[in-house]
Amino acid sequence: MTQSQLKLADMSHTWPDDAQCVVTITIDYDGPSNDLAKNLIPLGKNSHGRYSHKCGVPRYLAMLERQQIPATFFVPGYDAELYPESVKSIAAAGHEIAAHGYIHESFDVGEREPELLRKSHGILTDLIGKPPVGWRNPGGGKSDATLRTLTSLGYIYDSSEKDDDFPFFPEMDGKPLRNFINLPDNTSSLDDFPFYKISLTPPSEVLEHWKQEFHATYQEKGFYDLIVHPRTGFGSGSPTRAGIVEDLIIFMKSYPGVKFMTLEALAHWCLAHPAYWRG
Ligand SMILES: [Zn+2]
Repeated sequence: MTQSQLKLADMSHTWPDDAQCVVTITIDYDGPSNDLAKNLIPLGKNSHGRYSHKCGVPRYLAMLERQQIPATFFVPGYDAELYPESVKSIAAAGHEIAAHGYIHESFDVGEREPELLRKSHGILTDLIGKPPVGWRNPGGGKSDATLRTLTSLGYIYDSSEKDDDFPFFPEMDGKPLRNFINLPDNTSSLDDFPFYKISLTPPSEVLEHWKQEFHATYQEKGFYDLIVHPRTGFGSGSPTRAGIVEDLIIFMKSYPGVKFMTLEALAHWCLAHPAYWRG
């Protein structure tokens, strides 16, 4: 297939409501679990994760309410146990709760992986009253057991892969699945982590970069998955950093035909239209 044919093939899909671009705002809760997984005691200089439940999550819920858009929150099981009211408040506002490990482990966890996936699944299901259907790898690798366990628990999507711009079907036992879709996450340029942890980029420049990414994605009739964390440190919980996320949403709304969705809603739509996606 030539490059131009590939581009044509990619652009043959349609989005819900005939949108030109789908936007998913995804918020990785990453409370103290994230620090514990690094063997840090989440106090003092390592207390960034505790900001999520106190300030970051309420700030994002207020912003999403102002903007009247849905979002997906990926919540580690440990954080849900620690701050059940915070996680319930997210669900009560109509946003999606999805799974994100137990203590944000790297998932290079060997034989314990199925047990940990089931443990987090049970915690979120009991808390919210409905099972999560989406998962994002908190970091590290995946194994043969990942997909097998997720599908056995009824999950319909994974938002962890970096090797495509568009949704695609994974393979299990050499065959492409049709009841489970990968919704790729770009943790290089659409994630706050590298900008605030590695390059220490000012929020004004991060906003400009995310706007440019959106403009390019929109031209390609693409799928724009933003990843932010409501904590301090590497996250976007504080007023200025949360503020540029709202500025970005307002900017994206100025384009015609932009559809804001949860990943769950997008996954259901993709599964109902399998012909569009690679697999
Ligand atoms: Zn995370």
